Formats: sequence, C-alpha cells, structure tokens
Amino acid sequence: MYAPSFDYHRASSVAEAQQLLAANPGAKLLAGGHSLLPMLKLRLAAPTALIDIGRISALKGITAAAGGLRIGAMTTHHDVATSALVAAHCPIVSDAAARIGDMTVRNRGTIGGSVAHADPAADMPTVLTAVGASMEIAGAGGDVRTVAAADFFLGMMATAVGEGEILTAIVVPDLGAGSGGAYAKFAHPASRYAVVGAAAVLTMAGGVCSRAIIIVGGATATPARLASVEAALTGATLTPEVVAAASARAAGDITGDLMGDLFASAEYRRHMAGIYVARAVTAAAARAR
Ligand SMILES: Cc1cc2nc3c(=O)[nH]c(=O)nc-3n(C[C@H](O)[C@H](O)[C@H](O)COP(=O)(O)OP(=O)(O)OC[C@H]3O[C@@H](n4cnc5c(N)ncnc54)[C@H](O)[C@@H]3O)c2cc1C
Repeated sequence: MYAPSFDYHRASSVAEAQQLLAANPGAKLLAGGHSLLPMLKLRLAAPTALIDIGRISALKGITAAAGGLRIGAMTTHHDVATSALVAAHCPIVSDAAARIGDMTVRNRGTIGGSVAHADPAADMPTVLTAVGASMEIAGAGGDVRTVAAADFFLGMMATAVGEGEILTAIVVPDLGAGSGGAYAKFAHPASRYAVVGAAAVLTMAGGVCSRAIIIVGGATATPARLASVEAALTGATLTPEVVAAASARAAGDITGDLMGDLFASAEYRRHMAGIYVARAVTAAAARAR
C-alpha cells in the first residue's frame, strides 16, 4: 500500500513546528513514523502535510529534574530502555521500553509518539499512568501546560494534546523510598504490542503494602485503574495467597468496553488481566523490598 500524497516540512524548533502546524491545516507531526506511516499506508489517516520534528534537539534526551526525570518527547524507546538514569530512577519505565516491538521499532519509535498516539495496546500509557507521570504540552501561544497521565488519555487514540499543540516532554517522578514498580505483558506474538499489560507500583514497609497502584492496558481504550485490587493489597502482607486473591479481582475491576479481536477475545483479555496483574505485583513487591 502507498500513502496518499502529502507535503513534507522539517522543523528545526518547537516554535517553527507550531508555525508550520498553524500554516498547514490538516497537517500532522511526524516523530518516529512507526505508527503514523502505517496508518497513512492503510489509508486510516490522510494528513495534508507531515511536519517532521525529528531534528529538534530540544525534544530529545533524558535529564534528572527535581524529584524525578524529564524525558524529551523525541527520545527513542531504545534510549529510554538503555538509559542508566531511567534504570536508576524508575526501572519499570526502562523495562517497558525494552519490550516494545523489535529493535527497529525501538530505534525509530519515540516515547512522545507513543504517548501522543495513545494506542490502547501500547505499553507506555499503562506504565506512565502507574508511575504518576505528567505530560508537558506546548501551546500555540508559547505557553506550556502540564497534564497528569491519569487525565491525558481520553479515549482510543485520543489525548489531551489539542489542535496546534506539541507534546514536548514526559516528567517521571521518583517513586519514593520503599517503592517499586514492575510491568508484565502478554505480548502479541507478531507485533509485541500488549494484548494485556499490567503495571504495579507498590510501597512496602516491613513486608506490608502501604500503597498500591495497579493499571491494566491493552484491554480497554484507555489504561484502566483497578481500585478493588489496590484496596485488597493495601495494608496486607503480600503472601502469594494474598496476591492471588487480590489479582482475581482484576476481571471485575475492568469496566467499560473490553476490546476483542481475532487473536484475543474480550473475555480472554479479562481473564488474562488477573494473571498479569499477579505477575506485576509480585515483581513490584520484590523491587520495593
Ligand atoms: C511492528 C511494530 C511493532 C510495535 N510494537 C509495539 C509494542 O510492542 N509496544 C508499543 O507500545 N508500541 C509498539 N509499536 C508502536 C511504536 O512504539 C511507535 O513508535 C509509537 O506508537 C509511535 O511513536 P513514533 O515516534 O513512531 O510516532 P509517529 O508514528 O511519528 O506519530 C504517532 C502519532 O503521534 C503524533 N505525535 C508524535 N509525536 C508527537 C508530539 N511530540 N506531540 C504531539 N503529537 C505527536 C503524530 O502526529 C501521530 O499522530 C510498534 C510499532 C510497529 C510498527
């Protein structure tokens, strides 16, 4: 399949990208192209122009910020996966990045593209919601606003990034003393996208879980927070029996329309959610200890 024809512009700064967006109604930003170009070829998108933000150095790189990390939107999955800073501050994020697609996808695809595209089967939306990340968005007037991940993903491939805006960075907070996070995913055997992906962030003190955040992706349009699983873990000593009983609540916690396809039905995804939640919780508890 060939993409429909489009104009191509390369921006050298965020401000120039915004000017190009304003001057080209119907244009789309081009990051790594690993979601956008397939959509063009499948004729699921037909932008009038692509505005390439791949050479904007201000959008790349990982820096330690007060209380966490700032990851530029154009930072590739490979760079996130192999960053010593990310591994030291928030290894759940580097683990998830390392398991995205294959090497080609990780070398081209970006964390910002993944977040802005908001594919329900993507890994980063689930993990970034679990760690309480926030998204930095540059507005057309030069203003910058910050949106918490929990408020950012609005629906299937729909986010809080508005017309003319650019996602510039993802801010990942330190999880804090006694806390640890882990991600477990049932990867589609062909694409490695998450059929079901579970992220757990736990705070432990003396073997007792004092705080639990459990998010499941791949099953619903946006990352789902599992409130009754969290309630069952909080205040408990995390024996294998407690983890199994809490994780069994996952199926009931996932409300809204579950996705189903030829590979995995909605009911199968609902069932697998509990299994992957148990794996993520067990690994997160070990990390938190
Ligand atoms: C074979 C294959 C396997 C894959 N497997 C996985 C997987 O296992 N897990 C997973 O999570 N993902 C997977 N992906 C998707 C991959 O992670 C993509 O890199 C990602 O979804 C999009 O990032 P990108 O940089 O390529 O963005 P692009 O494709 O360039 O852009 C995607 C969308 O986001 C918009 N956009 C991009 N950057 C910005 C920005 N800074 N501000 C505002 N809007 C922006 C674009 O306009 C476009 O609409 C896979 C992709 C392929 C092709």
